[in-house]
Amino acid sequence: MLSLSKHTSNFSLNKMTQYDVAIIGSGPGGYVAAIRCAQLGFKTAVIEKYNTLGGTCLNVGCIPSKALLDSTEHYHNAKTTFQKHGIQLDNLKVDFTQMIKRKNEVVKQTCDGVSFLMKKNKIDVLTGVGSFVDAKTISIQNDKGEKQEIQAKHIIIATGSKPASLPNIVIDKERIISSTEALTLKEIPKEMIVIGGGVIGCEMASVYARIGTKVRIVEYLPNLIPTMDKDLSKELERVMRKLGVEMHLGFKVKEVMRVDNEVMVSAEDAEGKTHDWSADYCLMAVGRKPFTENLGLEKAGLKTDEKGRITVNENLQTSVENIFAIGDVVRGAMLAHKAEEEGVFVAEFLAGQKPHINYNLIPGVVYTWPEVAAVGNTEEELIKNKIPFKKGSFPFRASGRARASMDLDGFIKILAHAETDEILGVHMIGPRMADLIMEAVVAMEYRASAEDISRMSHPHPTFSEAFREACLAATENRALHI
Ligand code: FAD
Ligand code: NAD
Repeated sequence: MLSLSKHTSNFSLNKMTQYDVAIIGSGPGGYVAAIRCAQLGFKTAVIEKYNTLGGTCLNVGCIPSKALLDSTEHYHNAKTTFQKHGIQLDNLKVDFTQMIKRKNEVVKQTCDGVSFLMKKNKIDVLTGVGSFVDAKTISIQNDKGEKQEIQAKHIIIATGSKPASLPNIVIDKERIISSTEALTLKEIPKEMIVIGGGVIGCEMASVYARIGTKVRIVEYLPNLIPTMDKDLSKELERVMRKLGVEMHLGFKVKEVMRVDNEVMVSAEDAEGKTHDWSADYCLMAVGRKPFTENLGLEKAGLKTDEKGRITVNENLQTSVENIFAIGDVVRGAMLAHKAEEEGVFVAEFLAGQKPHINYNLIPGVVYTWPEVAAVGNTEEELIKNKIPFKKGSFPFRASGRARASMDLDGFIKILAHAETDEILGVHMIGPRMADLIMEAVVAMEYRASAEDISRMSHPHPTFSEAFREACLAATENRALHI
């Protein structure tokens, strides 16, 4: 991670300072938990091993990836659509060094923002690796080897996750890379093999394909973004193909080998036939695993499950009463906003409140262009669970707003209960869906029916009209513009 911002030295604090709450990890789970704890009047400390706050999300995840996705999308548009808009450009080219520099500036400003919030809320930031001495004592060792101990009535573990690999495949961080390195490359790869067609695979494939890299995605399951609704997968595959991304779906990667500056990848198709490809970079994007190294969990009497996650109950409480765990290190979606919700939950639980998280309504977004966003049940889940449903969808090619902005790919699909009309799932692929999905979340939180949305005035012309049209389509096939 980057070493950008500075905090007041923690080693000037008194030995064995006592806290109400100590939080290990300053990602979106940890730092948000700290702010809410401080708001509720707890004396709070955050322990972070790096010099910058914000964890994976701010340093090597959500923020830098979105910065590069935005930059490369601007370039792609300048190259492919500006002329049609009547904008002539000469000598268009990518300054990759500047692109990475801007991304670093965005990261620095965002991380500095978290440091500011810690100061504003009078939260002590203790820099160093935190590890349990016992269930109420944490030792913190900084990179100079200096140690200090603190005690806390309650401890929240928010240590996040790190990139996973495949058996016998080592991420060498030079040519066989994870998302962390893919966000700070020094050159534009000529060719890149992306192993895994999930969220990271699709986002990073978009970044590099847009600026000229020949990208191949090799995915084990038969679809891209395989956990999402299949109609979204199919439309995203069509869009990625249009971008020039080659996809090998239903291929299991068996071997990755580096020879000098080349990486060879072997995969097996459904019939057991082996296929080989080579490229100058190979990105491993096969998931992430919970991170608990050097935490000394055993000293606190804690164990991890078979997936390395810390086991928690419905209150995010571990088997040790005063210790809680949140975010990527526990069960559930590995998403920043899920980690944040859990941080707030634990703080409010400790304050004696009765917080609640509706895990069914945590939206998922893939920041390709068009963006993919979803909430609630997929069509496949409703069929599997024998829930009677009806569906309505609306394509962006029928939207005036989308025609104006030249964003004609994608659609919005809504699934509603066949009898009650309650919206059960919303699946979108289209322009600015990452923001529009919140209309669906609000609707579902208040248990709206498709007809409720159909009867609400949506501003014209907007992408949001497509949501209303999809709801109308589900309500006795009443879509107005198709
Ligand atoms: P983390 O953010 O991983 O933070 C954990 C922190 O704990 C780290 O700073 C780590 O240094 C620290 N730590 C660990 N052990 C110790 C220790 N012993 N002592 C002290 N400190 C320690 N999610 C989204 O919702 N939207 C996105 O667009 C998105 N994009 C992503 C893009 C990429 C490339 C990646 C990799 C992830 C992305 N994610 C996204 C996922 C998101 O980053 C994570 O879900 C989120 O960061 C989890 O938050 P967390 O607080 O649980 O852990
Ligand atoms: P993922 O689980 O989304 O995708 C991993 C993919 O790798 C799967 O599709 C899987 O089938 C495939 N795979 C596994 N073994 C394989 C093999 N041997 N050969 C070929 N393919 C194989 O994981 P990810 O994309 O690495 O992302 C990790 C986490 O980070 C996710 O949980 C995600 O929620 C989070 N993230 C979120 C965002 C976002 O919200 N926009 C962006 C990036 C990352």
